[in-house]
Amino acid sequence: TRQFFVGGNFKMNPGTTQQKAAIIDILNNAKLDPTTEVVIAPPALYLLPLKEKVKNGISLSAQNSYVKSTGAFTGEISPSQLADAGIPWVILGHSERRTLFHESSEFVAEKTRVALDHGLKVILCIGETLDQREAGETAKVCESQLQAVVKVLKEEDWSKIVIAYEPVWAIGTGKVASSAQAQEAHVDTRAVIAKFVSPAVASSVRIIYGGSVTAANCRELATQQDVDGFLVGGASLKPEFVDIINARQ
Ligand code: 13P
Repeated sequence: TRQFFVGGNFKMNPGTTQQKAAIIDILNNAKLDPTTEVVIAPPALYLLPLKEKVKNGISLSAQNSYVKSTGAFTGEISPSQLADAGIPWVILGHSERRTLFHESSEFVAEKTRVALDHGLKVILCIGETLDQREAGETAKVCESQLQAVVKVLKEEDWSKIVIAYEPVWAIGTGKVASSAQAQEAHVDTRAVIAKFVSPAVASSVRIIYGGSVTAANCRELATQQDVDGFLVGGASLKPEFVDIINARQ
């Protein structure tokens, strides 16, 4: 059985420390399903203070990390410094990084390899654009994004990976994938892992869904057999994030 996993990707939010404190107060005072693994990914600036502040078993994730541990790489985030600071997770391959910051699947794969080498666990994002879905290329796109990572990982590395299926057309748009669309993409993703890594990894790796998840749609998505949790953007900044964490209750 795969432990339900809910990540909150704050992106470059909130805008003030006061708003940040309000979100954390809600999470700290809420009754969270103890069987859900909860990870929040605030902006890098807030990782250390929040690590001291969060309760309820919540852990922290960076939103990105680079391929080098130290050196002249202005503005980048070091995977070894994250590990040294006790930050256990990093999100890699988010569609905003792929699109706005031109990260290729090969670069995402290299960053994944290096993050694991430094002892981080990785939330690895994949997903198709609307054009790709309409062209019937969803499975092909997800497979090729995964293949780049498959090439650089060993079988045992996959226990440190959570795959986030995030269709680009659903991110921040309010257009959530239907539970059938999510389930189908997750099944296809699991099949890729079964074929190119191993059936054992395919059945144990967690595949979570991201893209316009809210309190209103999370329960139905969570009934799908291959939806092992969520990666939540906008709604992770609101009180309803608690309902999403508790989607299986
Ligand atoms: P939204 O939940 O705001 O659509 O964002 C999803 C996402 O990109 C999480 O990484």
